[in-house]
Amino acid sequence: LAAALTACGSSQKTVDAQAPSSGAAADNSGALVGVTMPTKSSERWIHDGDNVKASLEKLGYKVDLQYAENDIPTQVNQIENQITKGAKLLVIASIDGTAITTQLQQAADKHIPVIAYDRLIRNSPNVDYYATFDNFKVGVQQATSLLVGLKLKTADGGEGDAKGPFNVELFAGSPDDNNATFFFNGAMSVLQPYIDKGTLKVQSGQTDFKTVAILRWDPATAQKRMEDLLTKTYSGGKKVDGVLSPYDGLSIGILSALKSNGYGTSGQPYPIVTGQDAELASVKSIIAGEQYSTIYKDTRQLAEITVKMADAVLKGGKPEVNNTKDYDNGNKVVPSYLLDPVIVDKTNYQKIVVDSGYYTQAQLG
Ligand code: BGC
Repeated sequence: LAAALTACGSSQKTVDAQAPSSGAAADNSGALVGVTMPTKSSERWIHDGDNVKASLEKLGYKVDLQYAENDIPTQVNQIENQITKGAKLLVIASIDGTAITTQLQQAADKHIPVIAYDRLIRNSPNVDYYATFDNFKVGVQQATSLLVGLKLKTADGGEGDAKGPFNVELFAGSPDDNNATFFFNGAMSVLQPYIDKGTLKVQSGQTDFKTVAILRWDPATAQKRMEDLLTKTYSGGKKVDGVLSPYDGLSIGILSALKSNGYGTSGQPYPIVTGQDAELASVKSIIAGEQYSTIYKDTRQLAEITVKMADAVLKGGKPEVNNTKDYDNGNKVVPSYLLDPVIVDKTNYQKIVVDSGYYTQAQLG
């Protein structure tokens, strides 16, 4: 199987992974499933939690759904409690992907399989499956949309009219979230050649992941960093033309810093600011011409694929996966199912987020 996969080299091919070594008892009907989500401070995780819970309940499972407000010890306790309460499977969207190794060992000792949800859990052999979006592609799309916004590229992939040079600043997500590196590497795979040619200039000189990463994806930290950049680097009259932002919450903080510094007027429009998650406030901001774009990840699909995985594992079977090479957690390559992200901007939000029923027109105002 491994050889066949290497030979086809496709990350999207559907293959069966091996059943988790922990295995599942034959009759788990009505069993308890523990679901842990990072925080309610971002809308997407609320949708994720609700969707996973509803779909599991539809299949007759009981669900313990917990949120930890981005606090690691809280999440650790929640997982321990779920193990104690007799959960037969755990679905975990971790806060710090390296901080729950001990709890995963406890789960493994009790033959409780674990599915990593959206974020890979690192440095543990006790992660059976991973359901997520193609995280590298998210970064590629964020950077591509930045180039399209600057008119260096056209939406269909051609060369744009603009020549540059443009001043851009870069932001990355939380360093303890495995996804953040994938997003940043994906984005830099597109932007680096433009930086090398001088078409894009990072005037602050801050291009290193660790320097631009925002711990716990905190909007206020991003706002503060943008304010510092504007004061330190742009006070002499230089203007910011674009900002790579990996998440809508950060984009809101960034736009707010820009606004306090005189951007967002007809004389000085906002730079091109990217995002991720198609959160309601950001889709509205896109419609209002503030944020330029976001990346839509249909959390309904992610919940559905995860629940299918969970159900298969609980029935002692093998869930469908489509990637067995990209997500090495430092201990093993975790069999994964990757979904496709989509760029959303003013030109297509109607089709992507309204026609699909993700939001109603009324919600968007
Ligand atoms: C998720 C993103 C989200 C970010 C902040 C990441 O792990 O993949 O969708 O924007 O966390 O919540």
